[in-house]
Amino acid sequence: MVLLEEPIKEVQTLRNYINGEWVEPESDEFKDVVNPATMKVIAKVPISNAEDVRKAVEAAQESFPGWRRTTPLARARYFFRLKEHLEENFEEISRVGVMEHGKTIDESRGETRRGIENAEVAMGIPSLMMGYNLEDIARGIDEYVIRQPLGVFACIAPFNFPFMVPLWFMPCAVATGNTYIIKPSPWTPLSQTKLFELIDEVGFPPGVINMVHGDVEVVNALLKHPDVRGVSFVGSTRVGREIIYKEAASQGKRVQAQCGAKNFIVVMPDAVVDRTVASLMSSFYGNTGQRCLSGANLVIVGEDESFYHSFVKKVAETASNIRIGYGLDESIQMGPLQAVVRKKRVLRYIEKGLEEGAKLTLDGREFKLVGGYPKNCFLGPSIFEDVTTDMVIAREEIFGPVMSVIRAKDLGQAIEMINGSSYGNQAAIFTSSGRAYRQFQYEVQCGNIGINIGIAAPMAFFPFSGMKDSFFGDLHGQGRDAINFFTERKVVIVRWF
Ligand code: NAD
Repeated sequence: MVLLEEPIKEVQTLRNYINGEWVEPESDEFKDVVNPATMKVIAKVPISNAEDVRKAVEAAQESFPGWRRTTPLARARYFFRLKEHLEENFEEISRVGVMEHGKTIDESRGETRRGIENAEVAMGIPSLMMGYNLEDIARGIDEYVIRQPLGVFACIAPFNFPFMVPLWFMPCAVATGNTYIIKPSPWTPLSQTKLFELIDEVGFPPGVINMVHGDVEVVNALLKHPDVRGVSFVGSTRVGREIIYKEAASQGKRVQAQCGAKNFIVVMPDAVVDRTVASLMSSFYGNTGQRCLSGANLVIVGEDESFYHSFVKKVAETASNIRIGYGLDESIQMGPLQAVVRKKRVLRYIEKGLEEGAKLTLDGREFKLVGGYPKNCFLGPSIFEDVTTDMVIAREEIFGPVMSVIRAKDLGQAIEMINGSSYGNQAAIFTSSGRAYRQFQYEVQCGNIGINIGIAAPMAFFPFSGMKDSFFGDLHGQGRDAINFFTERKVVIVRWF
């Protein structure tokens, strides 16, 4: 077992980044950040209060007029510089991600890459932000649309993609001329702190991009502050729907709330078996099942008993061979859950599945761990068979490495199951049939659709979609939606005398 060098060597006490400076929080409350593989404390993160938020909003609001007047090309150049700094620190950021979250180094490198891609897309803002026009809408009269930034925006981030998620929003928001506040998850605030060290080195004007660590009080203060024009939230459905969407909308703010999921992956009898199984491993067990795009329910279509049994056997054999351990060992394929509470939650669902009468074909509670690490957050992959869509384990988001296998007599029934779910984040189908996949993409009520792809994660220049309980708002993050979310379209009508 060879371990990559840990970039964090001693316990860091984190600070907020406001108005271009690292500042002590007003609050004296701190939370331990724990490496879930080693169970060692690696940082102390401030749980800031409303006064910290007030200062950050004030700084962002004051910097807005000057930043707005900075030309789009000049704004884009800051992101060119940020990209260079990110590339130079790519490996360190990725290793920090492993230490704070528990994901494997390759998963973390993938996350870092996707984050950088969002900064790259923002470099095209002079073209992306252009308006449009039409001459002669009446005799001698032209009409055009200009896009303008609105002011201060904020991002409230989840624990599971701590580096990438704020970058889904911030580069586009800031490149279009808005100013910004990021509130990282208090569970995983370190890769974001590293990002701000680089933002500081690049030298964005003070107040343009700020970070306030914390939890509920910070979120509430951001939602209530009259100068915050819009909020991008990524996290659980309960918080996204009940708190963020309701409160932000009632305050007249723009809001996009990307929430929880329960994703169905459909396997047709004509699927290419080996490649499908390999893809399922990453879909269900990648990031230890802690992805909003993770597979949760595996629907196997058809009444061919021998296909069903041989397919599930292959899936179970492959899953039982996944190497579990500390993600800084490059041979590891699955790391721990991010925290003890998250493992306890998954264990409760495994017990629930047994109570409901599902068959535990692969029991993730028994697993081999590479390296002598404390087992507190580790769990192996599980597979339940004989699952029906009315069971709790098939309906609720478990957010861990658990697969529930459900049978459907035909594609129509599989689609009915998906559309019966309250969530609509992602659905995928594995098939060789064009007819089946056309029907699937046409009928399935989900925002992100995978065809022979188990994780349909949209690139930075496409919107990250979602429907039903998985998304609240109108305009999604990334792509053209993001440009519209972060700008006002002003319509001008001109008569040429
Ligand atoms: P969470 O809802 O617990 O926390 C998200 C953010 O909200 C954090 O910054 C947290 O500090 C804040 N928060 C938590 N409780 C709050 C409260 N009561 N009031 C105000 N703010 C509060 O989510 P999480 O556990 O960090 O993340 C996992 C969830 O995120 C999963 O449900 C997952 O599916 C979802 N997720 C969705 C997407 C997507 O694009 N749809 C992407 C990643 C994660």
